[in-house]
Formats: sequence, structure tokens, C-alpha cells
Amino acid sequence: MQILLAEDDDGVAAALVEVLYDHGHVTRRVRYGRDVLTYHRSSDLLLLDLGLPDTDGLDVLRALRAVSDMSVVVLTARGDERSVVRGLRLGADDYLVKPVRLAELLARIDAVTRRSAAKGAPAVRTVRAGDVEVDLDARRVRVGGTEVELTTKEFDILAVLAGRAGTAVSREQLLDEVWGDAYQAVSRSLDVHLTQLRAKLRRPELLTTIRGFGYRFGDLGDLRDSGA
Ligand code: CA
Repeated sequence: MQILLAEDDDGVAAALVEVLYDHGHVTRRVRYGRDVLTYHRSSDLLLLDLGLPDTDGLDVLRALRAVSDMSVVVLTARGDERSVVRGLRLGADDYLVKPVRLAELLARIDAVTRRSAAKGAPAVRTVRAGDVEVDLDARRVRVGGTEVELTTKEFDILAVLAGRAGTAVSREQLLDEVWGDAYQAVSRSLDVHLTQLRAKLRRPELLTTIRGFGYRFGDLGDLRDSGA
């Protein structure tokens, strides 16, 4: 298996690369978070350290999840519950606190790989609802064939909702995935962005408010998916 390892500590990285190699995995080791977004396509699984020199690993994970559903195992010195919960909510498949026991790491890599193979179907990368088309890879939105310009935050919100089209997404989850921390994000700014998003899409029925819970993109009746 091709593994991408994001780890800035040379000693830790060398030990991991060696043990992974001994167990049949080819590892590309990168030092910076930005490199994850450059190299993830050629890998099957990401081992992600959260304390990277250029960006927080959780931000890397959030950016990665906007474009990929590859398997991710987070490695970190942070054992606190908040980081664990945030990592898992942002889409990490598993989470190991350093120092990592190598046998456990290998077992978890196997387990994550088995689960992702079982998931089977390719990820939905373009979501269509009525005449609205959201291309999650290219970060483009077309309404009635015409491209609509969205701000980064507006697209991020839309991507979270469209990525789970037909499913209710809670406000907390949305704040967590777009702003990174539901407890710190200004809840009102989500309302502002959603209002702008609805105005730009000109399809108010597409983004349903679920009172007291959150939002849903699309109706089950008019959703069409296209594979990767
Ligand atoms: Ca580190």
C-alpha cells in the first residue's frame, strides 16, 4: 500500500517509514501540511501528525476532506478529548496518541483499510440537485448552466451540505467543519453566509432549514449523483 506520512520529526518519521516498509508499505514522507494536499492523490492512506510546522493538522484534514475521502489515521501527541473529537468529526478514520506502539499502528492501518475497502463505491464528487451542480473537486457551482461565484466560506458550507446531500447536517457539525471549532465560531456568521449562499444560488428551496437542528441540501427526489 502507498502511505503518505506527514510528520515533521525526522526521528519519528524514519522509524515509521522503516517499520511500514518492513510490513510491505511504501511510504512518502512529507514535512509540511501543504505537501499533503500536493501528494494525497498518489496515496492510499494518510498518517497525519497534527503538530506540523506550517499548518495545524486539523486544518490540513479539513482541507483534505473537501477534496478526498482517503483513509486518514491521525498521529498526535495531543491526547485531550477535544482534539480527538474534532479529528474524528473532521473525518479522521482513526486516531493514535504518541508515542505510537508500532504493532498497534499496523493493526489499525489494516483495520482502516479493510473498512474503506468495504465502503466500496467511489466518492461522489459532483452533486446535482435540480439545475444546480456542485463540483466538489473543482470548487465550482453552476446554476442553470451558469457559474456562480462563491466566497471560500460560502463554498465550504455548501460543500459540507452537498457532500451529504439529502441528509440533515447539524449547525454544530457545520460550524466545526467550516470554522474548525463549533465552540469558538461565531454562530451568527453562519447565518450570514447561508443567507448570501441562498441569494446567490437563487434556489431557496434547495437549502432547507431544519428548525432547532441544522440544514439539508437538496430533496431526495431531485438528487443525482455522479461518481469520481
Ligand atoms: Ca510534529
